[in-house]
Amino acid sequence: MKAELQKLIALQNLDTNIRKLETQQQATPERRAEIEREFDQRAFEIRALESRRDEAKHTRARLENEVVEQRGRAERAERNLMSSKKQEEYTAAIREADSARKQISALETQILEQLEQLEQAEAALKERADEIASLNSDREARLKAFDEESETIGERLANARKERDEVFANLPKQLSGLYTRIKTRIRDGVAVAEARNRSCSACFMSLRPQVMAEIRRGEEVITCDNCGRILYYVPTDSLQADAAAPQPNVAVT
Ligand SMILES: [Zn+2]
Repeated sequence: MKAELQKLIALQNLDTNIRKLETQQQATPERRAEIEREFDQRAFEIRALESRRDEAKHTRARLENEVVEQRGRAERAERNLMSSKKQEEYTAAIREADSARKQISALETQILEQLEQLEQAEAALKERADEIASLNSDREARLKAFDEESETIGERLANARKERDEVFANLPKQLSGLYTRIKTRIRDGVAVAEARNRSCSACFMSLRPQVMAEIRRGEEVITCDNCGRILYYVPTDSLQADAAAPQPNVAVT
């Protein structure tokens, strides 16, 4: 029976590992999409900065053209002022020159605002220059590494399933049947639990000394009265303990 209990523990470890790998595999598309979203977000931010910079440049150029026009208008008004012979002409020229100067002043304020926008955008782009230079290659490298890791998970899963099938096939029918019944019934799929500190390590139910002694002997299959899992004992002071020690019998996270 001791050898068979070892096989049950090995089977449980393989099943726990398979569950863990399956969870990882199921999360693969979402994790890949997360990487893509992260890079899309960064590219989006960079494009926004670039268009802010370009827009500020264009707006500034347009405003400067308008200043040139307004200067021409002011000069014409000055000339009209000099050559005006009538009071109305004089007044009109003064008003025209005044209006042009006001326009120029307003345009210059707007030019300064655009210059500030331009400098901010350029500074932000300069700060992210290294990131911008390698964004596409970084994205490719991250996705490639992720795909390779995912492939490894697939291979490990296939190996674990194959090994599991072998261990399962080598168990006496009665035990493999019991194992499957418990595993199917229990939500976390853990059918084998260690008896530790005189209690079941899966459901924490206390075990009577007599039951504990039977588990220690390991001559027959003992199940927990409360949760129904197959119980086994690992001698803490034994060197073999490490080899037999299974992964924690708790739900896979
Ligand atoms: Zn239990």
